[in-house]
Amino acid sequence: MVDLFIQIRIVDIIDVVLVALLLYGLYRLLKGTAAISIFVGIVAIFLIWQLVNALQMELLSSILGAFVSVGFIALIIIFQPEIRRGLFTIGAKTQSGENRFLRIFKHKKQRITLDTETICQACKSMSDIKQGALIVITRQNTVPDIVMTGVEIDAEISKPLIENIFFKNSPLHDGAMIITDNRIVAARCILPVTNKSNLPGHYGLRHRAAVGVSENNDCLVLVVSEETGTISLVKEGKIETLQPLTMKEILNRELTPNS
Ligand code: ATP
Ligand code: MG
Repeated sequence: MVDLFIQIRIVDIIDVVLVALLLYGLYRLLKGTAAISIFVGIVAIFLIWQLVNALQMELLSSILGAFVSVGFIALIIIFQPEIRRGLFTIGAKTQSGENRFLRIFKHKKQRITLDTETICQACKSMSDIKQGALIVITRQNTVPDIVMTGVEIDAEISKPLIENIFFKNSPLHDGAMIITDNRIVAARCILPVTNKSNLPGHYGLRHRAAVGVSENNDCLVLVVSEETGTISLVKEGKIETLQPLTMKEILNRELTPNS
């Protein structure tokens, strides 16, 4: 036992700290997404394998070992698009010059209350004139890979700005707006479209994109229909039609810290 402690070198400690940082970074990146369950599963199998190895349980160790080595190759194939985006993130900088990857390690800012009143008012006026809109409000996890597909903005939320962005002739009207920590962080973003086949036929790409992004991210999506003026709220892949009078109340309820 004493021998074991004496053999621990500085390099081993650095090794453990680096692995812990790497796992923490991955966890922060995947938190709130569907990939988190896969990530936790893999870490669990890997830890069991290491334990079985240390206990010299040969048979179980070789079975788990084979699983882990094949598993890593399978992971690279399954997560190929995410890995590509992740590698891009390591070098890329945000508009403020901050490295996107390092930002993952920063403590999350204190939760900022969303200006639901302004967002509701903007949605109501867009609904009145049947101006289409697609707004993603992030909650636990941010969506840097989606922000990257559009134009970064980082502006304070205001009714005229939201309406202006979705105005038909505006260069930013196409695609989705992303709101994080009460700021408009991007517009014209491309969202993943859902594969669900049981959505009503009258839902087109705007609604399918809203469902798609909410399936894999902890976010709320507001959709204003260009065809009908209907305002919908999409969460965890489910669409709910909102009435203008109760809209603010529902949004506030969904965005309270414990929701
Ligand atoms: P509406 O009721 O407003 O007509 P819809 O659900 O019928 O909505 P479409 O008519 O197909 O959908 O809406 C097309 C618009 O949706 C596009 O102009 C574009 O702005 C937006 N859109 C389509 N696909 C995506 C996507 N993958 N990500 C973000 N926005 C998208
Ligand atoms: Mg349509």
